[in-house]
Amino acid sequence: MDSTRHDIAIVGGGIIGLATAMRLAQEHPRVKVVVLEKEGRVAEHQTGHNSGVIHAGIYYAPGSQKANFCAQGGPLLRRFSDEHGIPYEMCGKLIVALTEGELPRLEELFRRGTANGAAGLEMIGPERLRELEPHAAGIKAILSPNTGIIAFRRVAEAYAGEFTKQGGELVLDARLTAVRRADGRLHLETTKGAVSAANLINCAGLHADAVARMMGVDIGVRIIPFRGEYFSIKPERAHLVRSLIYPVPDPRLPFLGVHFTKRITGEVEAGPNAVLAFAREGYRKTSLSPGDTAGMLAFPGFWRMSRTYWRTGFNEQYRSWMKGVFLRSLQTLVPDIRMDDLGEPGSGVRAQAVDRKGKLLQDFSIAETRNAIHVLNAPSPGATSSLTISRYIVDMARKSFGLN
Ligand SMILES: Cc1cc2nc3c(=O)[nH]c(=O)nc-3n(C[C@H](O)[C@H](O)[C@H](O)COP(=O)(O)OP(=O)(O)OC[C@H]3O[C@@H](n4cnc5c(N)ncnc54)[C@H](O)[C@@H]3O)c2cc1C
Repeated sequence: MDSTRHDIAIVGGGIIGLATAMRLAQEHPRVKVVVLEKEGRVAEHQTGHNSGVIHAGIYYAPGSQKANFCAQGGPLLRRFSDEHGIPYEMCGKLIVALTEGELPRLEELFRRGTANGAAGLEMIGPERLRELEPHAAGIKAILSPNTGIIAFRRVAEAYAGEFTKQGGELVLDARLTAVRRADGRLHLETTKGAVSAANLINCAGLHADAVARMMGVDIGVRIIPFRGEYFSIKPERAHLVRSLIYPVPDPRLPFLGVHFTKRITGEVEAGPNAVLAFAREGYRKTSLSPGDTAGMLAFPGFWRMSRTYWRTGFNEQYRSWMKGVFLRSLQTLVPDIRMDDLGEPGSGVRAQAVDRKGKLLQDFSIAETRNAIHVLNAPSPGATSSLTISRYIVDMARKSFGLN
């Protein structure tokens, strides 16, 4: 590793760390930036395991960072992808109400989406719904033509390419293990050797709270991992879904409900659910990290969250273990789906921040401490919003770190 004294060390080579690194290199070419990534390649966690949807910004509370960053981030992402030859497809999306009881929530989503500037939203009836998605159930739906699909891993790799082209240093297999302050600087211990940096930007995703703790900072939240499990639909039955079909979500939760997603490769996936994971990188049902679990159980917010959501949590676990129950959820949206149609399983793990009162943070959360900026909550639509989140972080760094 280059032994230079760096101005900024970014911890985490996911889409947010890399978008931030690229922007710093472009806007502050004289500032020496190093990205430390613990894996052997970039985008190995949330960024490489997500649904690949360019969200239009429908769900989020008007005025929130999620709403603003997503609405502005989608068009920026598309422009970047055009410039870098990254394929994407604006295939559109449907949010489908299955019962009369869901209509008020569907209408509320329509109002939110419109207020958030999601372009071209249309409320459609069953005939138009069947025209667009002949196999979907539902009595009414929101059509969002401005929703698309992309491979976010490719986007992250392109950000990394731009960063290194500008002279930035990306160090793989470099897990940050300890931070020490001395002589007004940060001394970072990594599995690839020591690094000296004046400032740190924490983009460690599922480990963001642990990195903050290494700096001796109490950020008041804990990252709780929620696994999203899905199945691919066998290619011969992929015609049952033409684009993206979503249910009306539970407004109390920051998750969108089990849905159908077309991938940019043409495959169709069903899921993901949202199951509490017992390891931060718990990609399997049986994954268990004693350290992560003990830390979670010792956090008072975990117990408060469990008291509020125990029923939802129990149902999610049940659906996770019982494939038949998972299938029945899918059949509410596409009744023709059969057990035989479900192919390979897959999963991703979301980093969801929970505060001490047990509240799941609904909005993005980015905090400053001495010589550091911490990205504490950046779940979906974080990938869609990566270029606007990075703009916000770099503006913060300019003031906080005194960049010029
Ligand atoms: C199942 C799922 C579906 C999703 N669907 C969508 C979607 O359709 N559209 C959308 O916009 N968003 C979606 N998201 C959200 C999106 O993936 C995230 O918002 C985004 O990837 C967050 O990026 P990140 O860089 O913060 O985190 P990550 O991609 O997790 O990157 C963090 C990086 O930090 C590294 N790291 C951690 N600790 C250390 C350490 N100590 N030292 C060095 N490196 C470290 C990790 O190895 C990792 O590479 C989804 C997420 C999931 C999980």
